[in-house]
Amino acid sequence: MKIYSFPQGGIQFDDPSVPSRYTSITSFLPNLSVIPLIQHSGGRASPTVAVGDLVREGMLIGQGQGPGSANIHAAVPGRVVRMVSWKTPEGYTNDALIIRMEGAFEKLGKKEEVFPWKGLSPVELQRIIADYGIVEMEIPGRPVSELIAGYKSVTDLFTLVVRCVFDDPWLAADYVLCRERLKAVVEGSAITAKAAGVTRIVFAVSHREQSLGADLLAEADQWNIPASLVLVGSQYPQRNRRELELALRLYEKKENASLGDLLILNPATLAAVHDAVKLKKPILDRYIAVGGSAVRAPQVMRARIGTRLKEIFAQCGGFAGNPKRIASGSPIRGRLVTDLDEPVIKTSTAFFALLNARAGGERSRDCINCGECRPVCPVGLDPEELYKRSLISGKKGGIGRRGECHGCGCCEVVCPSRLPLSTAITQYALGEN
Ligand code: SF4
Ligand code: SF4
Repeated sequence: MKIYSFPQGGIQFDDPSVPSRYTSITSFLPNLSVIPLIQHSGGRASPTVAVGDLVREGMLIGQGQGPGSANIHAAVPGRVVRMVSWKTPEGYTNDALIIRMEGAFEKLGKKEEVFPWKGLSPVELQRIIADYGIVEMEIPGRPVSELIAGYKSVTDLFTLVVRCVFDDPWLAADYVLCRERLKAVVEGSAITAKAAGVTRIVFAVSHREQSLGADLLAEADQWNIPASLVLVGSQYPQRNRRELELALRLYEKKENASLGDLLILNPATLAAVHDAVKLKKPILDRYIAVGGSAVRAPQVMRARIGTRLKEIFAQCGGFAGNPKRIASGSPIRGRLVTDLDEPVIKTSTAFFALLNARAGGERSRDCINCGECRPVCPVGLDPEELYKRSLISGKKGGIGRRGECHGCGCCEVVCPSRLPLSTAITQYALGEN
């Protein structure tokens, strides 16, 4: 079968400190959970409960406030014991409700009641997805109901792209979710397709995961919507929207297949849509990959929203040494974690702790003009030149437009001098994305 990819650049990389992709473990229930009122890049939800109130598992505790905001639910039953505020590394203030677990679980361990959805209209489906606070289960985490509602095509052709692209070993949790919740991912795709009025589903799957693609397609057979499998590259950053679209447009041209506008969602998001519509369940947990050189027993875990990182790392055997860097996401484009009381949220995908401040532990040296950074850039830029200009300018916007750089970090990974190329280019240029 043919493999479609972006035309230039990219890297293959591996990381032995990533957890195994064979199975997940369920994390312990948190005695004390921290439920932020912002769990994605949108606006803050307004609390619907107060300190001292009892809350039920899955109960609405934060009401989304207009566009970009999403409802927030309690992941465990208990009592609200505090409300806290803190400044995030991104510079905004977040608030969280602290819930001490008590009382009975209404969903955990109970037989799941199933609600039929085929008779519901697209508008009704969108409302359910909004009510249950479903957002993209990764950064930036836009509300799915808004993505669907804003989804317009000039051609009347719409395609839902299920992004099963694993170009980064730190996407292990989504891979395990795909395997363990394959039926939910596919039914969630069928529900989303109906809600958005799309005409077809494309499973975009890394070519190294061909058997996963075949399983998804076989499961999709039972839904009355055309579905196809497109094998895409496995090299990073194939999963980025730009690179994935390039691959799909190439497929469209070569196979004479009209895709129209693309609504791209990841499998965890579609499983969450399934749970909201079919089980009337908000997002109570998230598959996360936990590892890194400082973690004794890396694992893929299914953790309740609100579980603090100190408990997550403890359940992975704790630290083998003093971690120099703790972050979420991936070592290529991770976000620093400064407080182990930070919780798992809807957009969490991975947490790692490293014994060295950088993934490889090396210190930066001067540029040796080796040129390694140029061929890996997927948009054909000259990272060395842009980096040097950013050093000279020394101020934001000082190097003018950075062109198409989307901060993928490929240049930084291959640089033998370990220069912070991508960081400097994106920091000192206009038009960040
Ligand atoms: S971070 Fe920017 S300059 Fe570096 S490889 Fe990616 S797109 Fe190119
Ligand atoms: S890879 Fe690093 S050392 Fe080599 S040219 Fe690029 S910036 Fe310089």
